[in-house]
Amino acid sequence: MRLIFLGAPGVGKGTQADLIAAKFGRPKISTGDILREAVRNKTPMGVQAKACMDQGQLVPDAVVIGIVKDKLAEPACTKGFLLDGFPRTVPQAEELAAILKARGLQLDRVINVSVPREDVVRRLTGRRSCPKCQAVFHVEFAPPTRNGFCDRCGGELMQRSDDKRETVENRLAVYEAQTAPLIAYYRQRGLLSDIDGAGKVEQVQQRVVELLSVNGLA
Ligand code: AMP
Repeated sequence: MRLIFLGAPGVGKGTQADLIAAKFGRPKISTGDILREAVRNKTPMGVQAKACMDQGQLVPDAVVIGIVKDKLAEPACTKGFLLDGFPRTVPQAEELAAILKARGLQLDRVINVSVPREDVVRRLTGRRSCPKCQAVFHVEFAPPTRNGFCDRCGGELMQRSDDKRETVENRLAVYEAQTAPLIAYYRQRGLLSDIDGAGKVEQVQQRVVELLSVNGLA
C-alpha cells in the first residue's frame, strides 16, 4: 500500500490518512508534522522552515525531499506508506517517482480529497491542537469536553500559527498555484482517485476504504 493523500489544506486528508494508517498498520509520513516538530525542537531545519511556514509559503523542495527520502529508507516503510502533504509541487512528485523507481517500487494510488473552499476556511480557522500530544479538535465540529483543553492529556489547546485567517488565505493561494497542478499530473498517469471530503469523518473514511477495496488495496 503506497498511497498519497492530496488536497488543499483543511480538506481532512491528514485525518483520513491517520485512520487508514491505523486500520492497515502502515506508517503515515506527514511532512507538515515533521517540520512542526523540527520547529518545536529548534533544529537547524526547523529554524529555516519556520519563516516559510508562518507565512503559509512552502519550504524549499530540497528540504522536504530530504525528509521523505530518509523516512522512506526506514524499515517501517518496506510494506508500504501513506504520504500526507507530500508531494506539493511537480518537482517533488518527480523526485518521489525517482526515489521509488530506484528501489523498483511504484505508487499505488493518489487520493485527491476535496471540499468547497468556504468549508476549508471554516475547518482551518476553527482547528485547535494540543501542543503536548498533538490531538486535534475543532471549536465547532469536534469541540473538546472542557473548553480550551485537550480531552486526551489535559494540555492547553492552541491554534496553529498558520491557521490564522490571513495565513489560511495564503496557504490556499499557494495550493492553487503550486499543488493543484499535481491533480492533472497524477490523473495523466492513471493514478488519481477523487474523494468527496464533505460530511462526517466516518463517512469520508467509508468512501476511502471503498476506493481502496475497489482498487484491490484493502
Ligand atoms: P501541512 O501540515 O501539511 O498543512 O503543512 C504545514 C506547512 O508545512 C505548509 O504550509 C508548508 O509551509 C510546510 N510543508 C509541509 N509539507 C510541505 C511540502 N511537501 N513542501 C513544502 N512545504 C511543506
